[in-house]
Order: sequence, then C-alpha cells, then structure tokens
Amino acid sequence: MPSTNFINGEWRDSLDGATDAVINPATGEAIGSVPSSGVADVDAAVTAAANAFESWGRMTPRARSEILHKVADAIEADLENLKRIEMENCGKPASMIEFEMDLTLDNWRFFAGGARFLEGRAGGEYLEEHTSYLRRDPLGVIGGIAPWNYPLNMATWKLGPALAAGNTIVLKPSELTPFSALRLAEITADILPPGVLNVVTGQGRTAGDALVRHPKVAMVSLTGSVETGKVIARTAAETLKRVHLELGGKAPVIIFDDADIEAAIACLVEMSYYNSGQDCTAPCRILAGPGIYDDFVSGLTDAVAGIATGDPFDEATGMGPVISANQLARVEGMVARAVEAGAELTIGGSSIDRPGFFYSPSVIAGPAQDSEIVQREVFGPVVSVQRFTDEANALAWANDIDYGLSASVWTSDVGRAMRMSAALQFGCVWVNDHIPIVSEMPHGGFKQSGYGNDMSIYAIEHYTELKHVMIKH
Ligand code: NAD
Repeated sequence: MPSTNFINGEWRDSLDGATDAVINPATGEAIGSVPSSGVADVDAAVTAAANAFESWGRMTPRARSEILHKVADAIEADLENLKRIEMENCGKPASMIEFEMDLTLDNWRFFAGGARFLEGRAGGEYLEEHTSYLRRDPLGVIGGIAPWNYPLNMATWKLGPALAAGNTIVLKPSELTPFSALRLAEITADILPPGVLNVVTGQGRTAGDALVRHPKVAMVSLTGSVETGKVIARTAAETLKRVHLELGGKAPVIIFDDADIEAAIACLVEMSYYNSGQDCTAPCRILAGPGIYDDFVSGLTDAVAGIATGDPFDEATGMGPVISANQLARVEGMVARAVEAGAELTIGGSSIDRPGFFYSPSVIAGPAQDSEIVQREVFGPVVSVQRFTDEANALAWANDIDYGLSASVWTSDVGRAMRMSAALQFGCVWVNDHIPIVSEMPHGGFKQSGYGNDMSIYAIEHYTELKHVMIKH
C-alpha cells in the first residue's frame, strides 16, 4: 500500500521527513504512517497541478470522459482491495462497505459521462449586430479537502466533478484516513496524466491550511465540520478564492401519527447507526407524534438492542467503532451531559470494554429542544427522540437548528408530505425514507451545512466559471 505523497505522477516523502501515524479504530493500533506535509510539499503539488491544467483543461470533453471511464474501470478492478483498506482504516463492517463502494464506482461513471454535458444555457442576438454565447470554463487548480467518514467516496465527490469540468486537483485526505486516496492515485497513475491528480497527506492546520492559502489554487472544496468550514471560508477570503462547503448536519426525522411506524423503525435502526452514526445525513433527531411516541420509543429501543457491535471483519457485525479516541470522548461527553440535563437513556450510553473505540448504540428520549444533544452534531451512534404536539410544532422544532443538510417526513397524508417538504429548510427532504442517494441528484446544505452541491450536473457546474462571449458583426 502506498504511504507517501503523490505529486506530478511521482511518490515523494514530505520534504522535512515528518510523518503522522495512522490508526485502525477497531484495534487502536497503528497500521502505518504517511507524510505530515507542509507548505513546500503543498506548493510542489499545486505547481504540478497548475502545469497539468494547461493541457487537461483544453482536452475535448470526450477525451476527458474516456479517461475518467478508465479511472472507474480501475476502481472496479481494485474494488476488493479498496474495500479492505476502508474497513481497516475506518472500522467499517463488511456488511455495509458494499453500498459505499458501489456508490463510489457509480459516481465515477456518472462524472465521466457528465464531462460531456456541460452547457451554456443561452446563445443568440440580444443586441443588434452582436451574437452572445455562454461557455463554462474550468477554474484551474482545485484544492480538495476530505473527511474521514467515507474517505474514498467523499474524495470522489471532489475529484469527479473537478476533473470532469477540466480542472486539475490537489487532494488532501483526512489525516485519519489517507490510504484509500493514495491507493486511488496508485491505480490511476498510468491513466491520468502526471499532475492532474495529486495527493498530499497531512494535518488540516498545516497541509490543509497551506492549500487554502496558496495563490494558485482557484477553489477549495471541503467536506468537513462547520467549524473547519468557517476557518477555511475566512482564510480563503484573503485570496478571494471560491469555496465549496459540505459541512455538518443534524437531520430531523418527523414521524406523524399516521405513518407506518414499523417501516420507520426498520429504516432508523439501520440508517441511524450506519457507519456508527458518523454520517452528515444520519437520521439522528427524531420528532415523534403524540399518539405514537411511547410505542415508537419502546419499538426503536427493542430494535436497537439487536444491533451486533464488534469486529468489522466479522460478517455478523452490524456496527463497528467510531473513528478515534477523540470522537469516542466527544460521544461519551455529549450523552453524559444529555442525561444530566434530564433526558432518559433507554438503551446504550457507554463505551464498550474492548480494544479500539467502540460505543454502544444509544437512544435518548425526551431531551429539551434547546439542549446540546438536540442542537449539536454528535457524529456517533446516538439518536434523540422528542414528542411534538402538532404539525406546526414539528415544523418549528425541525427548522430550529443551525444545520440544514437533510430531513425526512413520515406520513400517509400526501398533502402533509407536500406541505412539510416545501417548508423544511434542508437541502434534501425524504418522504417515508431516509438516506438513499443517487449520482444524478444534488447533495448539499442550507444554512450552516454549507454551500455548493455534490453529485449531479450541478456539482460539475460548480467547478466551472461562466463566461459570456459577445461577437460584433
Ligand atoms: P474536520 O472538519 O475535522 O476535517 C475535515 C478535513 O478538513 C480534514 O481533511 C482536515 O484535515 C481538514 N482541516 C481541518 N482543519 C483545517 C484547516 N484549518 N484548514 C484546512 N483544512 C483543515 O471534519 P471530519 O471530522 O474529518 O469529518 C466530520 C465532519 O464532516 C462532520 O461534521 C460531518 O458532518 C462532515 N461531513 C459532511 C458531509 C456533507 O456532505 N455535508 C459529508 C461527510 C462529512
């Protein structure tokens, strides 16, 4: 497995030789180390990307598309290896890695095709004796900064649209999960021209910061926390570079009394604890109707008792560890404070006594709307359940939050589903489901969940600049 930076088609250590250890969260033990890159390493990668842009940006869409299809083929051929890397580096159970990798592959195929569908929406004579047309030009070098929860998939959401639109990229994976990005660079080294994809590993405050500050980086695309998004937006303002931010979430799940409660519980017991709850769209903030609240809480608690937590490589495991000791401490602290504040823990509420960073799947009933457990992202296997009084109360509580990434409404009343979908201030609203995503549809946030969209043709457009050309005749 490669464990150095990938710059201009070459494998390089950091210039000062510094490294960061990488931990397997299911054991707590180091599985390797990667460069802890600094300003000079980032500069070398950005320079390579800027040089490569000269020809990559001028290629025909068809030529770029054909290359990106070959990248998808290479991923498909290496799928078992990539799955093993993600499982070992993130503690993802065998039972759930399939969906994530299938989506990643489909995303690459979608973006490969999407390279050929960029268009200006108008052309014609808007002034006498002048013809106007619109172009979508690539921006140049993109700085991609990825999180640890779906390392290769989140990297794909940056690489795919950026490359499809004709940009080149320097990708900084999370310091916690760098290996799948490096493996991607390795398996595409003979496919992508040197400098088109560069991978620089390291810490956010050093390597990430250097990427955001670099004057030759045209746009920074971050998936990460709200706090990091704010720091990056402030730093990027110094060079006025464009920023694409996919940040945190705290998805409300509004279950009305007329909903199919069994279907809701079956969905939530899977999706709320999927990836140990470390998902920005995780259905974690449940608002249950007054008539079904008690049955729902007991039904969900019973279902959660059946989640098998343990070794990710055991086929029977439904939930693995959280990513790090820090994340475990965060989850422990937030649950303890919720209970201290008066909420009822119906199941879970403790870390699991085994090596690695395991926390028991938990349900917290009856927290106050203004409490930390309702208002802040836990990013762990914890859901809260509140009892609402009526539709207006449910809507008010759902929208009363800084985040705006995703929400779901559970009801058998079509009119109510329509009203709620229109009024919810979230980038994605599901009705009678929660979490499915597809390459063709955009994923992005309202409010402090960020701006810009991932996936879909809108993502590719976001990695371009709109240009008006006017010809006098
Ligand atoms: P994080 O913000 O800690 O780190 C994300 C990336 O930013 C890492 O690569 C990190 O090294 C880098 N970084 C940190 N500080 C930086 C700085 N000052 N300058 C430049 N780069 C910096 O987030 P995380 O803990 O890796 O991921 C979890 C967060 O990501 C959660 O909040 C989650 O909701 C969010 N997330 C959002 C989406 C989405 O699509 N909206 C998807 C997945 C995860």
